[in-house]
Amino acid sequence: MLKLAIQKSGRLHEDSLRLLKECGIGISNGANKLKTEASNFPLQVFFLRDDDIPQYVEDGVADIGIVGENVVYEKNKSVTTVEKLGFGKCRLSIAVARGQEYSSVQTLNGKRIATSYPFLTAQFLEKNGVQADIHEISGSVEIAPGIGLADAICDLVSSGSTLLTNGLKEVETILHSEAILVRNNDLTEAQLQILGKLLFRIHAVKKAKNNKYILLNAPNDKLTEVISLLPGMKSPTVLPLADEGWSSVHSVLSEDEFWDKIEQLKAAGAQGILVVPIEKMVL
Ligand code: ATP
Ligand code: ZN
Repeated sequence: MLKLAIQKSGRLHEDSLRLLKECGIGISNGANKLKTEASNFPLQVFFLRDDDIPQYVEDGVADIGIVGENVVYEKNKSVTTVEKLGFGKCRLSIAVARGQEYSSVQTLNGKRIATSYPFLTAQFLEKNGVQADIHEISGSVEIAPGIGLADAICDLVSSGSTLLTNGLKEVETILHSEAILVRNNDLTEAQLQILGKLLFRIHAVKKAKNNKYILLNAPNDKLTEVISLLPGMKSPTVLPLADEGWSSVHSVLSEDEFWDKIEQLKAAGAQGILVVPIEKMVL
């Protein structure tokens, strides 16, 4: 049995549950439950505040946890990063009032900076040889400059709309963060084996998300060119169409090269291009 800690409620909660579901792990999530057991996988799930997860994983109260990198690095606990999960993306940034002159990080010298991330903020300032006052506050950091509590803030940003509505501008990025899977440093062989099974599923889900299944028709005299554009998992599947002189080509395309390839395929004579999502992908 492996004990997994995920956020009880908040920005990572839904995506963490979705990931488990996509991995075929069934868990019931009662509204006020503290923990639950998966029905078809040796996994127990604890619902916790994200700030507490690194500590629980370090102590072995939970064996693994899903939490933002920002929290893991801020808490500075001794845990092992297992996998980046691709959701909960944000950055930890310093912002100042929009009207304020800002030329370089040295502008922060002697300023008061409000943040919920005192450790990472201090580390950044020290690295840059800046002396500033750090005011730790636990929430609503973005209003601190407006109410005269601080000259700058260091806070999480995703779209930047919160900064905008509070009259702030982003001036330094300290960290790019996303949700990660962390584990306790001393798992037993049996626990590592369960973790391996979970990871195998996570990889299949991640791979599928990064790839699309593509079906297209091509005239036979253009097949060589079309096929050369499609890397696929092995070589593409080619099936004859009822319409003589034409074939149907099936393959897998990665998300990054997707639009480029579609254009090239069209230019090479491909028609009736269909693109469908892949649910799981095991290589
Ligand atoms: P908890 O009650 O568990 O302590 P919280 O209020 O500290 O929750 P949330 O706001 O739910 O935390 O954010 C959880 C995590 O989501 C953050 O630590 C971060 O990794 C990620 N995240 C992604 N985008 C953002 C964003 N724009 N603002 C804040 N967090 C974000
Ligand atoms: Zn929190």
